[in-house]
Amino acid sequence: MSARSPRPPSPRPPAPSFAVLDPATGEVFDEAPDQRPDELDGVVGRAHRAWAGWRADPGARSAALCAAADAVEAAGDGLARLLTREQGKPLAESHAEIARTAARLRYFAGLTDPRTRPISDGRPVSSEVRWRSLGPVAAIVPWNFPLQLAAAKFAPALAAGNTMVLKPSPFTPLATRLLGSVLSVALPEDVLTVVTGREPLGARLASHPGIRHVTFTGSVPTGRAVAASAATSLARVTLELGGNDAAVLLEDVEVDRIADRLFWAAFRNCGQVCMAVKRVYVPARLHADVVEALAHRARTVPLGPGLDPDTRLGPVSNAPQLARVEDVTRQALAGGARAAAGGRRLERPGYFFAPTVLTDVPPDSPVVTGEQFGPVLPVLPYRSLDEAVDAANSTGFGLGGSVWGTDLDRAEAVADRLECGTAWINHHAELSLAQPFAGIKDSGVGVAGGPWGLYGNLRPFVVHRPREHQLDQEVRR
Ligand code: NAD
Repeated sequence: MSARSPRPPSPRPPAPSFAVLDPATGEVFDEAPDQRPDELDGVVGRAHRAWAGWRADPGARSAALCAAADAVEAAGDGLARLLTREQGKPLAESHAEIARTAARLRYFAGLTDPRTRPISDGRPVSSEVRWRSLGPVAAIVPWNFPLQLAAAKFAPALAAGNTMVLKPSPFTPLATRLLGSVLSVALPEDVLTVVTGREPLGARLASHPGIRHVTFTGSVPTGRAVAASAATSLARVTLELGGNDAAVLLEDVEVDRIADRLFWAAFRNCGQVCMAVKRVYVPARLHADVVEALAHRARTVPLGPGLDPDTRLGPVSNAPQLARVEDVTRQALAGGARAAAGGRRLERPGYFFAPTVLTDVPPDSPVVTGEQFGPVLPVLPYRSLDEAVDAANSTGFGLGGSVWGTDLDRAEAVADRLECGTAWINHHAELSLAQPFAGIKDSGVGVAGGPWGLYGNLRPFVVHRPREHQLDQEVRR
């Protein structure tokens, strides 16, 4: 494997293309290739041919992934600007996303050679588990963290020795295309291929007979469709789906100390984070204080285009998502909720929605029971801790949750009662590269992250052999 000059993203039209919009203006600013589903046969075939060379040498894979991380960092400014342009997030958050993309590559560069393990169960046989790659795998990702979520898939998959076909969301195809071009400096041809296009491209990729593992991040309904598509070829699936994380504040919480952290846990990336705080449960005595602390921040946070250096909160990322956020807020207000801040779309170009804090929300309102995935936060009072824990666990989701208070042992005991994959104390949505990440209930199937994510991209291959002397005895018998 040798370093090469970057392959440019595949050539633009005459092939069909689709428009890419800037959410800060609502206007078209570029286009991306609208690849046809039947093009996947050639793409997957080339990924299959590249697999033999890529899987053969763990040391070369490790070096290539480190070089890939360097290349991502070197291209950081261009990637960050393009990401902000098509996704809307503040430029500083795009830079952070790119830093995490590089960090993920480096982390998995250290895991390219999983240990062969001897197995012993007392019988006179030597058994050994060796780990094998799967072949070409597919990644399908959403628009909220296009690069970082793609890296969470391609870094472990490539480290394991698989090749990958990566399909970004049609709302955010451009930064991923550029990333593919940047990575081509370090990776052999066809080891990672970015395809862009509108449906049914994703459905065809998920059901392609040459794909051995489909790793998907997105909404619950699409996750179900992907699982059904993958069933046709019996490919392995990993699904990282929606969340409706609750933050439970305890009686001893110091509101002023945690208000900033809690606000950003809910509103970062305009609330478009799978494991954002999406509901807050507060002791009735503290409810008014918490509502006001959050509403004050919602009213005063600098809002604007992501490329403006003063912006802390950008627009909602696309028009359908803005419509969903408007709809869920309208339903809550019609049901008796009150907006302590925001509550409506802003009258300016682009997809801006005023950061919204809702109080007096009926517990069966869709903004509580479903996933708003936007800058809208319901704050609900509770009278007993059991009531709060039951409410936190009452939805169909089970991604994350958090408990906030001064007595950390007590907070941890409450966190232990949350039905989800990750629980935090006094913060939310902080992930280590080395930890497993898995949702329960409708929030997911399979495990990503850390060594668990690597093994999700490998299959065990077991070799049994008799011990030498035992073979001799059997021959003599
Ligand atoms: P989405 O489900 O609409 O789309 C996700 C991806 O699937 C896109 O690339 C889309 O083009 C593709 N797709 C659409 N239909 C398909 C089909 N029939 N077959 C195959 N692929 C298809 O999700 P979205 O609106 O892009 O993203 C928001 C959702 O993602 C939210 O629910 C959010 O919670 C979830 N999410 C989850 C995590 C996690 O790690 N659990 C992380 C980020 C986002």
